Amino acid sequence: MPKKLKVLVASPEVAPLAKTGGLADVAGSLPKALKALGHDVRVVLPLYAMVKQQNPKLKEEISDLQVPIADRKEQAVVLSTMLYDTVPTYLIKHDRYYDREYLYTTPQGDYPDNAERFIFFSRAILEMLKKLDFAPDVIHCNDWQTGLVPTYLKVLYAQDEFFKHTATVFTIHNLGYQGKFWALDMPMTTLPWDVFSINGIEYYGDISFLKAGLMYSDVISTVSRGYSREIQTTEYGLGMEGVLQYRSKDIYGIVNGVDYDEWSPEKDKFIKSTYDINNLEGKKICREDLLGEFQLKVPEDAPVIGMISRLADQKGFDILSEAMPELMKMNLAMVVLGTGEQKYHDLFTNLKKEYSQKLGVVIAFNNKLAHKIEAGSDMFLMPSRYEPCGLNQIYSLKYGTVPIVRATGGLDDTIQDYDPKTGKGNGFKFSEYSSQALLETVKRAVSLFEDKPKWIKLMKNGMSEDHSWKASAKEYVSLYETAIKKRTAA
Ligand code: ADP
Repeated sequence: MPKKLKVLVASPEVAPLAKTGGLADVAGSLPKALKALGHDVRVVLPLYAMVKQQNPKLKEEISDLQVPIADRKEQAVVLSTMLYDTVPTYLIKHDRYYDREYLYTTPQGDYPDNAERFIFFSRAILEMLKKLDFAPDVIHCNDWQTGLVPTYLKVLYAQDEFFKHTATVFTIHNLGYQGKFWALDMPMTTLPWDVFSINGIEYYGDISFLKAGLMYSDVISTVSRGYSREIQTTEYGLGMEGVLQYRSKDIYGIVNGVDYDEWSPEKDKFIKSTYDINNLEGKKICREDLLGEFQLKVPEDAPVIGMISRLADQKGFDILSEAMPELMKMNLAMVVLGTGEQKYHDLFTNLKKEYSQKLGVVIAFNNKLAHKIEAGSDMFLMPSRYEPCGLNQIYSLKYGTVPIVRATGGLDDTIQDYDPKTGKGNGFKFSEYSSQALLETVKRAVSLFEDKPKWIKLMKNGMSEDHSWKASAKEYVSLYETAIKKRTAA
């Protein structure tokens, strides 16, 4: 076996402890897969209110962790739990920062002290490692909330023997969240002002924690190959394309894997009836159960289209709402589960009033219902403007729930458009970001749904694919090795 690596995965959210989106799924299931490959992998996240409530029995690891911030030190406590019975997971407890209902954002907007909360988190991670006497070969940082970790290592801890061999990987799960704060937050980081420069963490007069991660990490990755290319263009770079082009040779794309213990119709503990590729009877029961949950009556020949989403601009709700009047004239029903920005809460609440016979809406974060939608729907819609990887379309494949997606980022990489001539493909996709293209594609799907043998063949094309972590976890190990080599050479 190759060298056993010591890895710390640092993430602001980790499923099943705390989750707002796909990052949590990855930060929970990748460590589990790395552990199965024999590596010493551990995880760290903040101790949010929801984690406390659901995990009353946490073990105390460090009772008094002193963390420098601004011109003072703040005290934290480090607790731990065992994720999936195998992965040691540390929780940074600082109630004034993290004992709150939401993780980073309320429906009204971001918490105003997010800079302080994640400066503290990033610094606490490094101080925690020293106290635990765990010097990782790699710290795998995820998204802007951990962007200062590589910066601290390269600037404040550069001469620290403890971290002499520690390399960093920074993974972008979504370039749309850049951790931008005003320059006057600089002193809170305790970093010297020369770091506030174009080659440092300065970003058009502000600070960006995302840019910090991009500039100081040894290697950068993102969650699909398609997205790794897209983000280096003006169209998808969201202002970071210059930085990304500058680091182009260090950017890798590794598509997210799926933990089939959690997300497969054979094992799913939340659904009414399990099923598999050789016996689809259970899927009918799941569909009835789902329609019951949403109190919808839908004829058997009408497909149910599911959506589970953060309600954010990125996810394509502008073209969806334009398409709604036409969609609702078609022989189909829709169920939507989502939470996020207030304007979308209002949009879907109003749509529900208008189309109450055919549209079911739940504005909430509800993991159990998410599983029921995966199993009980016939199709799954993701009309995203951009999508770094997207997990629900990959989950959908295994549940025989045919994805309808816009061809962008990870959606484009994982979904192949159905070809009526050959019967090949695993879903439906469209390129142009427009309500017209969306409608035409849904029409294609609805019309194929009438041809049961062909439809079942298409479902089975998806169900037979393997998107487990098997391949992607190995790619991460090679990426860690690349980062270690770079660190050693520096
Ligand atoms: P993103 O990370 O951009 O939100 P992904 O498709 O990568 O999108 O991952 C979304 C994850 O979050 C999936 O596991 C999905 O089931 C889950 N999810 C999103 N919204 C909700 C919700 N309202 N309730 C339950 N799960 C949700």
